[in-house]
Amino acid sequence: MATDTFWIVVAGVFGAVFGSFLNVCIVRLPADQSVLRPRSRCPKCSAPIAWYDNVPIVSWLLLRGRCRRCAQPIAVRYPLVEAAVAAVWAGAVWHYGVDLTALTAAVFATLLIGIAVTDASHLIIPDEFSLGGLPLGLALSLRDGVPGLTAAALGAAVGFGLLFLVAWAGEKVFRKEAMGGGDIKMMAMVGAFVGWKGVLLTIFGGALLGTIVFVPLTIGGRKSLVPFGVFLAAAAALTFVFGEAIIGWYVTMTFGPS
Ligand SMILES: [Zn+2]
Repeated sequence: MATDTFWIVVAGVFGAVFGSFLNVCIVRLPADQSVLRPRSRCPKCSAPIAWYDNVPIVSWLLLRGRCRRCAQPIAVRYPLVEAAVAAVWAGAVWHYGVDLTALTAAVFATLLIGIAVTDASHLIIPDEFSLGGLPLGLALSLRDGVPGLTAAALGAAVGFGLLFLVAWAGEKVFRKEAMGGGDIKMMAMVGAFVGWKGVLLTIFGGALLGTIVFVPLTIGGRKSLVPFGVFLAAAAALTFVFGEAIIGWYVTMTFGPS
């Protein structure tokens, strides 16, 4: 096995384990429960889950998605989150190699998956992901030294400030809460990872995705709260990977080749 393949597999295994912990966070953080104890239990019959029934992805497949004791179905969301986090950790090492940028990408993607799934299921963005991820983003920005940290801090300030303004203006214009505080704190965290230009691209992309997906749903008269964090998370991930290329293309289109 080539060294590269070895490290991609190692990253994938770590990712699956982090994904398993992320599942615990997704279920417990919106309910203000501790993510450390008690140990994982079946949500239906409360039987404690043995370690061999708690192996990421594998156990769910072996148990065919059912609790060993009560045979009630276990949501497919659990193995899907584990597989998604495993894929982004393996993908980060495959794309960036074994270095700090890969770690940064993997941590960022894990936070975004946590935010997207929690916002989609509970319409909540837990502070642990947003405010907890902010210092992680600032610390990891030091891979580019002090300029990296300055860019990350500026990105966080612009992310927080812009969404704060949008929320404030929305409340003035529409006389109701247009955007939750969770989105504001989330964009501070995102800014620390993608910088201020990335913040602009993320907000634009999130609004675009949200419009494409949600306008057809609301035309049918279904009034539902929009989990905007889901679309911001998708746009933030795309911005992290393709942002510089997109911004470079946009600047060239607008101002001509430099
Ligand atoms: Zn059970």
